[in-house]
Amino acid sequence: MSKSEPIVIVGGGAWGLSTALHLRQSGYTDITVFETADSIPSRYSAAYDINKIVRAEYEESFYTDLALQAIQAWKDPLFGPYYHETGYIVATSGSAPAKAKNSLETALASVSKHPVFAPGIEALENGDEFKKYAWQITGPLKGFTGYFNRLAGYAHSANALHGIFLHCATLGIKFVLGKSAGTVTELVYEGQGSARRCTGVRTADGKTHAAAKTIVASGAWSASLVPEMGRFVTARSWSVAHIQLTEQECDYLRGLPVINVRDLGFFFEPDPATRLFKLCPLGAGFTNTDKIGTSLPPMDRIPPPQDFIPAEDEIKLRKLVAETFPWMADRPFVDKKICWFADTSDSEYCIDFLPDTNNSVVILSGDSGHGFKMMPIFG
Ligand SMILES: Cc1cc2nc3c(=O)[nH]c(=O)nc-3n(C[C@H](O)[C@H](O)[C@H](O)COP(=O)(O)OP(=O)(O)OC[C@H]3O[C@@H](n4cnc5c(N)ncnc54)[C@H](O)[C@@H]3O)c2cc1C
Repeated sequence: MSKSEPIVIVGGGAWGLSTALHLRQSGYTDITVFETADSIPSRYSAAYDINKIVRAEYEESFYTDLALQAIQAWKDPLFGPYYHETGYIVATSGSAPAKAKNSLETALASVSKHPVFAPGIEALENGDEFKKYAWQITGPLKGFTGYFNRLAGYAHSANALHGIFLHCATLGIKFVLGKSAGTVTELVYEGQGSARRCTGVRTADGKTHAAAKTIVASGAWSASLVPEMGRFVTARSWSVAHIQLTEQECDYLRGLPVINVRDLGFFFEPDPATRLFKLCPLGAGFTNTDKIGTSLPPMDRIPPPQDFIPAEDEIKLRKLVAETFPWMADRPFVDKKICWFADTSDSEYCIDFLPDTNNSVVILSGDSGHGFKMMPIFG
């Protein structure tokens, strides 16, 4: 296609924005992003959050290589303001099942041999060793083992979405936002069967927008526009909770590495702007499956803030805080929410042309809860 033909991107989340940016940088001049939310960062995006882990340890070298490229790109001036290389501790607690402990040992053996990670890896065999890298921890860390990885950290995801959105707008990328004008309700096709071709999208206000290429980057909602995606992608939710800190407490925890206790959950250095200390429990999460087996987020149950997470997730987080920062153990959790992402059965991203559309539709989905870190290179 010629670089001046119209391209429509559905979804202004992490992958949609990155794709818009990279297409523009490659010389495409007519790019429009449609987003349901009134503003970006979109409150519907899985990345509408104060932080996401950026790390490159993967079992598959394909993802390790991609994530290492992404970490490098997080250090570019455009993305750098949102990246914090605090280091990353991966651990299991004393009550973790044997499977979790074994998988941690396998991960440690693998990163210890990897030429890029090895110089920054330190095995942690008891509480005192953890405290060398996270001196702020005062809890007992009963039976904790793990490792520290220097080449990792987190990115402020909502700020990154906002910053890249503004940058895209200055490059001439068009944005159509809001429930009526910004929500794509269907892809418009001409022709039948294998001759079918997508000619653009229709929005909730009834307007049709022509496109030579339509890129669906609608995260957990992929199957609502492309029902075939329901076979590959499951909308799944994970819980998020926060503890409100004082300015002094927030300063005290500055520089804390991301700490991921695989059988309990993970947390980050607090956000200095809001003084929120974010925690996520680890587990299988929850789906919202209809009669034909497709899981989509229940639109009536996401923002305004729900202030709810399942009780079992709250129990895990209480245990995590008691083991690490007992002085916070009885603090109320605030801004509790369940957040939706696009999961696949093998955790692989699902990025491809939609079959039988003559390459007129590209699907970017299946982030599987580990796609934000790729934002600088995804497009
Ligand atoms: C709790 C939680 C923790 C996570 N932690 C990490 C982490 O530590 N590290 C990491 O790398 N990743 C993490 N992720 C995953 C990361 O957030 C996602 O991989 C990333 O946001 C995927 O980007 P996306 O663009 O595919 O989807 P999203 O960012 O969800 O964006 C999709 C956008 O499409 C819009 N949209 C949907 N349908 C339509 C429509 N019909 N018309 C117009 N707009 C539409 C939505 O409003 C939304 O803004 C986490 C996810 C969750 C939920």
